[in-house]
Amino acid sequence: MHTINRRTFVKAVAGTAALAVSEPRAATAASSGAVFLSTWVQGKAANERAAEVLKSGGTLLDAIEKGINTAEDDPNITSVGYGGLPNAEGEVELDAAIMDGTRHRAGAVASLRKFKNPISVGRLVLEKTRHTTLAGDGAFRFALQMGFRPQQLLTPESLKKWLEWKADPKHQTFWLNPTDNHDTIGMVGTDGKGHMVSGCSTSGLAWKIPGRVGDSPLVGCGVYADDNVGAASATGDGDLMTNYCTSVSIVHTMARGASPQEACEELLQQMVKTDPANRSAEAAVIAMNNRGEIGAASMQKGFHLKYALWREGQSQFLESVKLY
Ligand code: ASP
Repeated sequence: MHTINRRTFVKAVAGTAALAVSEPRAATAASSGAVFLSTWVQGKAANERAAEVLKSGGTLLDAIEKGINTAEDDPNITSVGYGGLPNAEGEVELDAAIMDGTRHRAGAVASLRKFKNPISVGRLVLEKTRHTTLAGDGAFRFALQMGFRPQQLLTPESLKKWLEWKADPKHQTFWLNPTDNHDTIGMVGTDGKGHMVSGCSTSGLAWKIPGRVGDSPLVGCGVYADDNVGAASATGDGDLMTNYCTSVSIVHTMARGASPQEACEELLQQMVKTDPANRSAEAAVIAMNNRGEIGAASMQKGFHLKYALWREGQSQFLESVKLY
């Protein structure tokens, strides 16, 4: 396991803090081409699609959006978009956000019903409005206005799973008695010219209390991107991770001189420092700096993040470092 040498890191932080803020972007820009990094098995198709979009002239934002669409469109991924498992009332509610590291602006939707591509709706919140996040009924009406077509998001399989859950008299709920089913797609990328984007899309926790908003659509939690430094995203127990503002914390740690890997591990260690019980938390994070260097870490072996990396035409599926 790769661990942070705190003394070295703190020294590096002290030495590079001034540099990180004052250095012009060009001096830290990547020169090695595009890199895409995504969570879980669905990340591979997402990265490959993103690389195609960028190659065919799309922007980095287009690439991340279209990459994430591949997971949202896939009915077999039960934690994102179409086929995502529903809330306790049997309704699929989707959360997503996309953040542009150049403009330092994001677009997000929370608790969006009936539209399978929340990342694309979030993208239009970014491009067409002065707002950052739209939720619930307002997000629904915005999506309609933007020309998205509402549809049933339950598949026969997800409906069957919900009916089974509902019929089980001992079924777990989120009234302080958690269940787990989550595998959000979180994605970060660079175009190789110092531009950074972060995106995240999820149906959230299966059987969640209606209206629950996780970390994924919250700027600084599920996504964060800053061209001057890098980008990060998160997956896992969003109710826990929201309280640690995971993605912005990681990017700020990188700004102070940490590598993406050090910054990911530092964040998870911070969670344990505040509460040792977090050693068993379902929490995993990914990060990339603006030179295309990457990091990925999971808190513990029971929630071991596998991630996809696309670099120089090579698509790989790898295992993250786990802390406990
Ligand atoms: N973080 C997501 C949420 O809590 C779930 C996940 O990452 O799988 O909504």
